[in-house]
Amino acid sequence: MSATGLGLNPFYGAFIDGEFDTDAEHRHGAVDPATGEHLADVARCDATDVDRAVSAAAAAFGAWSRTLPEERSRALHRIADLIEADAERLAQIDSRDVGRHIREMREDYRMAVEHFRYFASVTLAHEDFGRPIPGGYSIAKRVPLGVCGQIIPWNDPVVMLAFKLAPALAAGNTVVLKPDENASLATLEICKHLSAALPKGVVNVVPGSGEEVGTAITGDPRVQKLAFTGSTEVGRIIAAAAAQRLIPATLELGGKSPNIVFPDVDDIDAVVEDATAAVIVCNGQSCLAGTRLFVHEDIYEEFVPKLVEHFGELVVGAPLDENTDVSCMISARQGERVLAYIEAGRAEGARILHGGRRVEVPGCPAGYFIEPTIFEATNDMTIAQEEIFGPVLTVIKWNDYETMIAEANATEYGLASGIYTSNLRNAMETADRLDAGSVWVNRYANLHGGTPFGGFKDSGLGREYCRETLNVYSQLKSITFQGTTLRAHVK
Ligand code: NAD
Repeated sequence: MSATGLGLNPFYGAFIDGEFDTDAEHRHGAVDPATGEHLADVARCDATDVDRAVSAAAAAFGAWSRTLPEERSRALHRIADLIEADAERLAQIDSRDVGRHIREMREDYRMAVEHFRYFASVTLAHEDFGRPIPGGYSIAKRVPLGVCGQIIPWNDPVVMLAFKLAPALAAGNTVVLKPDENASLATLEICKHLSAALPKGVVNVVPGSGEEVGTAITGDPRVQKLAFTGSTEVGRIIAAAAAQRLIPATLELGGKSPNIVFPDVDDIDAVVEDATAAVIVCNGQSCLAGTRLFVHEDIYEEFVPKLVEHFGELVVGAPLDENTDVSCMISARQGERVLAYIEAGRAEGARILHGGRRVEVPGCPAGYFIEPTIFEATNDMTIAQEEIFGPVLTVIKWNDYETMIAEANATEYGLASGIYTSNLRNAMETADRLDAGSVWVNRYANLHGGTPFGGFKDSGLGREYCRETLNVYSQLKSITFQGTTLRAHVK
């Protein structure tokens, strides 16, 4: 499909106070990373735009924060309905903008729509609490924080948008959001739906660079909460900005997640399939990817050839091809970074069992398509320690349980983990021993609304995707009522 069939505007300005800016001093081209086709121009905003966006969000906060949860719930349902009705077109836009294959993008839209509906529901049950005291009673009510500054990456645009907007709005906050420079188009298209569902100024979207727009958001004294998804490196910058201003920050950062295969699994083929899906999701450009596969030596000789065979069956293809399993990297820079890690693995003595090269896909001359790659390695190697953000799996053989657990936990990250076993005791003991925010038993990335998602260690702070998230977008105010002003001890 040509870009014209997607209903894109030729130019997208910032979305501030319910309107799109129609011009910008600086622009950049949004380019399809597979074909190199120019899709649209996007404003490269600056601190002045952030100032206007924060002013709009601050002005909208008073009325929005006083709405009843029922009204906010209806607005979130409306956003979900509008995105759902437009999901196929939006999924194609994201597929063209970020190079991920269309089947996956459709799944992202399903998940994002469910996320808005989840928070539309839980906000109704997010109760304040109270208790009687002698001669009176005390209540604690949850109040929204104010203007939230939210910064998201490129790999999962609509899921990141939903993870940020839905709880913030449900709790009664207003928002200034910055999408990634490489993935702004669908987010800006979704603003058209937001303007139909929300009062002006409640959500404002300012595209541009992290250095300029991101820094202006994190430094604005009117912003009362920061929420960020991205690299650990930038996460530290955001945390420092929040500490400086004494405001809370939710940080969803990187990962290098262990995925552990016990020798008692009853269906090796199914585990091979699931462990493969765990690493090729988002073409490997996923924070939660299960990139370190610990396979027990008793089944290693049977398991690994099946894994290699399955990797060989994966279709590396164009983003919009329905048969594609692995598509292209977000940019040449990211592609080169992944290839450099593959070289580093070879240089360190890791053995390539499959893949390892860039491949060409017809009709996609610009794309960095990387063969899904399997390394046999040890846990101390660079490819097992650093987040590669590409379709690269490291297989590690294990025999001693304690050593395997120590190695599984021996990275700076602690976002996610997986266990395959038919033994409940293995599952429970191992789940307890893993330093990770999520542990998935027998199905990797088994994400459901209401299950907290977030990282231990350098993978982040705070939890999204659950009821608890409403707490991180609000604060408690206690109000104590007394029947008389006379203190009991005053005679
Ligand atoms: P990144 O940290 O470079 O960029 C993320 C966002 O931060 C972008 O919008 C960018 O413009 C902005 N940014 C950059 N510098 C900034 C600054 N100084 N101040 C404010 N904002 C700034 O991350 P990336 O490489 O684009 O994304 C990949 C990373 O995101 C990976 O590490 C991945 O694991 C992580 N990620 C984590 C999750 C999660 O839920 N834990 C989900 C998706 C991605």
